[in-house]
Amino acid sequence: MKLIQDISFKDKTALIRVDFNVPISKNGIINDRTRIKSHINTINNIIDNGGKVILVSHLGRPKGVWEKNLSLKNLVEAVSFESKRKVCFLDQKIGSKKLNEKISLTSRDEIILLENIRFYKEESSGDLLFCKNLSRLADVFVNDAFGTAHRKHSSTFHVAKYFNEKCIGNLFYKEYSSIFRVINNFSSPLTAIIGGAKISSKINVIKSFMSFADNILIGGGMMFTFIKSAGGEIGDSIFEEDELVKAASLLEMAKKNNVNLIVPKDSINSRAFVDNEDYIISDSKSIPEGLIGLDIGPKTVSEFKNIISKSKTIVWNGPMGVFEFKNFSTGTKEVAKAVASVTKKGAFSLVGGGDSISALKKFDLSSEVSYVSTGGGAMLHFLETKKLPAVQAILD
Ligand code: AMP
Repeated sequence: MKLIQDISFKDKTALIRVDFNVPISKNGIINDRTRIKSHINTINNIIDNGGKVILVSHLGRPKGVWEKNLSLKNLVEAVSFESKRKVCFLDQKIGSKKLNEKISLTSRDEIILLENIRFYKEESSGDLLFCKNLSRLADVFVNDAFGTAHRKHSSTFHVAKYFNEKCIGNLFYKEYSSIFRVINNFSSPLTAIIGGAKISSKINVIKSFMSFADNILIGGGMMFTFIKSAGGEIGDSIFEEDELVKAASLLEMAKKNNVNLIVPKDSINSRAFVDNEDYIISDSKSIPEGLIGLDIGPKTVSEFKNIISKSKTIVWNGPMGVFEFKNFSTGTKEVAKAVASVTKKGAFSLVGGGDSISALKKFDLSSEVSYVSTGGGAMLHFLETKKLPAVQAILD
């Protein structure tokens, strides 16, 4: 697969698919610029190598209709500030003469930013004419949007086939190679730590880990679906009725595959879903009625820490409890500290998923893990299927 370093951009125009899907308020104020900042290196690299740059991104889920607060016009100032370049926003229709004319009038050191690609219904339908028109704007296709690498949309997948020259950008490469390392080139023992509220969104990734992980540590609300499926009493804790059979079969599968799948043995419970100090620790399979399990218990924490400390590769997605509440954040915090500490000793740790990233930030440990993946959905898809449509499109 080609990288931007393998292509000569001199006097060529590059269409770069970026992921500028930043959190934005109703009046167009950007609340976090991380996603913009993370693409600047790719953009500047191409311009510095003599290329002209056209950026394509989505923002939010407008489903084919124009929405003022989701216009990429709102991002012009931020992109300009972060890249230290002039940004030319062009909202003329893709496929129109006007857009082509405007692009040809723009100077090479200016960044061209097109309107939100999801304002076109053709983006999700993969319309061929739309893709052709998009491809006619440039000579090279660069995909730097790892966060949408699992989607077969026009600008992330279909458009690539109309380019002879195509590659992935620097951010895409960093994200891709970190996850690739976990799937294909890891040191054992490998420990997957999976948490969060729902088992339904992570069941496939857990299944996939069965074929290559040594340990799978389960935390968060999803633990209760496992415990209930094995006949445990979980009080009023959350669980997913529809996933009970699948959870039971995963427990069976782990035994057959000789994978050390650990469901927490104790939990910290509360009488209500509130941050109170009046918590009760119990065996996680005999939680009394009226109590809700909101964090993993102390026995589980020490068991998890022990396993993490002996691991050489760690993948973590999803908090161990309701870490947003101080009284139920210990499990997540202790796991984060254990991951940071084993990383210091040379293990490779990959952390992804919005809530795990927030937890690392909250405990000031973001820089203490090997890699923080910002493409949550794409990361799970890649770990689940070991493939990514966007990568396939660049290789074809
Ligand atoms: P997810 O989006 O599935 O990764 O879930 C993340 C959310 O799960 C976080 O907001 C946590 O507060 C929540 N969570 C973690 N553990 C529990 C639990 N035991 N009960 C309810 N919610 C939980």
